[in-house]
Amino acid sequence: MNPTLYINGVWRNSSNGGRHEVRSPHDGSLVASVAQASIDDVMEAIAAARACFDSGVYSSWSWTQRSALVSKIADLLERDASIVAKKESDDTGKRLIEAEYDVADVVATFRHFAALGLVEQDHVVDVGIEHVTSRIVHEPVGVCSLIGPWNYPLLQIAWKVAPALVAGCSFILKPSELTPQSAIHLIKLIEEAGTPAGVANLILGPGSVVGNALTTDPRVDLVSFTGGLTTGKTIMVGAAPTVKKLALELGGKNPHIIFADADLDAAIDNAVTGVFLHSGQVCSAGTRLIVERSIHDRVVKEIVRRAADIRMGGPADLTAETGPLISESHLKTVEKYVAAGIAEGAKLLIGGKRSERPEHAHGWYFLPTVFDGCNTSMHCVQEESFGPVMTIEVFDTEAQAIAIGNDTIFGLSGGVWSRDTDKAARVAGALRHGTIWVNDYGPYRPQAEWGGYKQSGIGRELGSHGLGEYLEIKHIWTNNSPSRSGWFHDAVGGES
Ligand code: NAD
Repeated sequence: MNPTLYINGVWRNSSNGGRHEVRSPHDGSLVASVAQASIDDVMEAIAAARACFDSGVYSSWSWTQRSALVSKIADLLERDASIVAKKESDDTGKRLIEAEYDVADVVATFRHFAALGLVEQDHVVDVGIEHVTSRIVHEPVGVCSLIGPWNYPLLQIAWKVAPALVAGCSFILKPSELTPQSAIHLIKLIEEAGTPAGVANLILGPGSVVGNALTTDPRVDLVSFTGGLTTGKTIMVGAAPTVKKLALELGGKNPHIIFADADLDAAIDNAVTGVFLHSGQVCSAGTRLIVERSIHDRVVKEIVRRAADIRMGGPADLTAETGPLISESHLKTVEKYVAAGIAEGAKLLIGGKRSERPEHAHGWYFLPTVFDGCNTSMHCVQEESFGPVMTIEVFDTEAQAIAIGNDTIFGLSGGVWSRDTDKAARVAGALRHGTIWVNDYGPYRPQAEWGGYKQSGIGRELGSHGLGEYLEIKHIWTNNSPSRSGWFHDAVGGES
């Protein structure tokens, strides 16, 4: 049996023999069998990461050396891109071409952080005292638990692994139990690149067991987590007793606002992509369409026409535009969400059920779904379905559009469409969300920060802040002309 846990530089199986079968979301077939770590394995992985970090075997490497390592990993990922994309597509059920785009984004992420590691981080500040040199230096935060979701498995962990490596941290990586294969391959490449044993450790298994141990252990300094809001709150509680640093990327319920003066053809096309891409299993999906009343009927008619036309299929279907949901349990969650929406008065215009096509019979296919007549008091507007479900709300004024767009506990992303650039800029400025697209929806680049306001998370990934999460900042004050402090009186005075 293939050993798939990586602890202290050694590939091995679980100490209690546990295994987990990964099933295709497309047809339920077996795609992989992987080791499922025991708590003892987790303890060993944390011990290895801690000992490695404290020894300085990697954390003392120069920024240049660490950047070169991360750059080498990017090269290896590029070399193995098609292998990695196939694994990702098998695990997630997404089309191969989509997985290939994701791997290209992963390579770009590693290259971004490798480049950032070469930019001088430390600096001297002027504290206004001539004989004092005040230096601000950046040091690795320590041992990190990196926990990822299943929707963009490799990409989401790359946003953590690449900066952690550049910063000089040691880590224990835990991908989602539903999608472990690309993480296993990434760790093989990290090993091949010459990373010292103990820096990168891989643990597989369910979050409630191994994830919990990784987020509560006192030897862990930082937890970086991407996943659902409920899990994020549990992690905050578990991390509190040892005051761990936290970087949390949680859910979103993202407003996509279309004004009547927008380029409607482009706006509608982006609205369809924004919500139905990857069957809505995207944290930044534009699930809340907020439309100016005068164009409501036209926009809705066109969206329904386009939703009806979306071609669904599995990884190998070259004509498919979107794929299955990740699991039966997730499909049932989306079904319940839709039923609740109907019960609370949302008007179902299309979809709302699983696909009945024979070729989808063994997979988790849910039809693109549109609810009209929605408002901010409804659960379907406030809660994340993480499925292909759009809710439509209307507004009459700019102020209303902003108020509706901000009426959510989340704050991850949003979009605004208008030909009036001043108006679009005002709305973009007023929306309390971490990323706003103006006359666009969805693109991101590793050079720009990503993260959420409000309950969408804590901290930022990507950009330069995405490296900062993995660094401690130390201030070193050097007095070049020492003298007495003179604060307390000294009866004797002078040198003894
Ligand atoms: P999830 O919270 O169920 O699981 C995420 C990860 O956490 C998995 O690896 C899981 O095993 C682990 N986990 C579960 N319980 C845990 C616990 N008690 N302690 C430690 N780890 C635990 O989320 P998911 O279903 O895998 O992903 C979907 C969610 O992720 C959505 O809410 C989505 O919005 C969010 N997401 C956010 C972003 C972002 O950038 N903000 C990106 C992708 C996904």
